[in-house]
Amino acid sequence: LAEKLQNTFKKLKGKGKLSEKDVKAAMREVKLALLEADVNYKVVKNFINKITQRSIGHEVLESLTPGQQVIKIVNEELTNLMGTTQSKINFASKPPTIIMLVGLQGAGKTTTGGKLGGLLKKMGKRPLLVACDVYRPAAIKQLHVVGEKLDIPVFSMGDKVNPVNIAKAGIEHAKKYGNDVVIIDTAGRLHIDEKLMDELKNIKSEVNPHEILLVVDAMTGQDAVNVAETFNSQLGIDGVILTKLDGDTRGGAALSVRAVTDKPIKYIGVGEKLSDLEPFYPDRMASRILGMGDILSLIEKAQASLDEKKLKNLEKKIRTQEFNLEDFLEQLEQMKNMGPLSQLIEMLPGVSNKQLKNLQIDDKELVRIEAIIQSMTPEERRNPSIIKASRRKRIAKGSGTSVQEVNKLLKQFEQTKKMMKQFSDMEKGLKKGGRFK
Ligand code: GDP
Ligand code: MG
Repeated sequence: LAEKLQNTFKKLKGKGKLSEKDVKAAMREVKLALLEADVNYKVVKNFINKITQRSIGHEVLESLTPGQQVIKIVNEELTNLMGTTQSKINFASKPPTIIMLVGLQGAGKTTTGGKLGGLLKKMGKRPLLVACDVYRPAAIKQLHVVGEKLDIPVFSMGDKVNPVNIAKAGIEHAKKYGNDVVIIDTAGRLHIDEKLMDELKNIKSEVNPHEILLVVDAMTGQDAVNVAETFNSQLGIDGVILTKLDGDTRGGAALSVRAVTDKPIKYIGVGEKLSDLEPFYPDRMASRILGMGDILSLIEKAQASLDEKKLKNLEKKIRTQEFNLEDFLEQLEQMKNMGPLSQLIEMLPGVSNKQLKNLQIDDKELVRIEAIIQSMTPEERRNPSIIKASRRKRIAKGSGTSVQEVNKLLKQFEQTKKMMKQFSDMEKGLKKGGRFK
């Protein structure tokens, strides 16, 4: 989706003054891109109408940079579509806050329950996970495993007890042991059926959760939206957690869910690890869809894992083009702590899939890279451009690798350098009040 939209906007940006015809042609392309990304048809229609109306008004056609203006409008409307602001969990004034996770089988409820518990624990809460899926054979065990990994207590009563009673007992347990948040993991089905809904309604009416969060799999596209609509109309939900967004390149579900159900997306699942859950920010998602790259998330992530001083230092080096192979090695090692390199780089604007492929680096490779860099002289590390054929041969021999591997490393280094520069230019733009504004 991002790529298609970027192409459309590239055409617009190049133009001086826009005619109504230009705008309409661009909107047709935007419409197609959205439909292809599996965005709900009604949502697309409304969206395009709104943007077209705004775009052919004075604010665009009379402005000096009409192309930019259109992009700004699309960005704003995309953000509106997804809810404008970040929606948080509503905590009960009198603990425990009861959060009930519902959704189809395989959507990610159990995993997400753990992830959410982990996030809340980091916020200083004392969550309790309650195992109410008594149908899937290994569901209770799965929750215990998740809880153990995160060091979060799990309450279960086996699979012979009615889920309503388990939920109630779990809440009593929480009160007794001072857990201020109760996360109830419920059973799913392959499809929505009456029995499932009745059970969920029973739990709802007996425990009065403060938050019913629907967990949906973003990769199911339109189906995710249909599921959300049905759960909302039959059970009533307070928000959505969209999982597997790491595998959903089209982003269609994220765009439609809010518009169709009028319920906010509160969190997104972005990977299989228990730390892969993030608050959902509509404006960032919009920028990401527009191909700007999710700079703010990237900066936040970098700040959380990187040593601030080192980062500043690095930034200066990149700006002054002093970034060398030693920094590169240090950078690679630090990035290891931030999760897969590819996930980070994906967020950078203007990075193509091909560039990404060239940059895939795993831990084993890191060891080889380290060996190669260590086989270089300090002079070579500081000034890689002097590493010509004969030096490459020597380095390969010294590190027990091949000339091809040395070549590859030098190429990766050049690419990283280029990308780091892109990143720092972008950041400068942001500080000047960029991001379309
Ligand atoms: P449940 O049946 O709704 O409880 O779903 P589970 O929690 O058992 O998850 C089903 C599968 O989806 C598991 O293999 C999870 O690891 C995986 N999963 C859950 N969330 C995510 C996510 O955000 N990204 C990815 N890639 N996988 C996820
Ligand atoms: Mg489950």
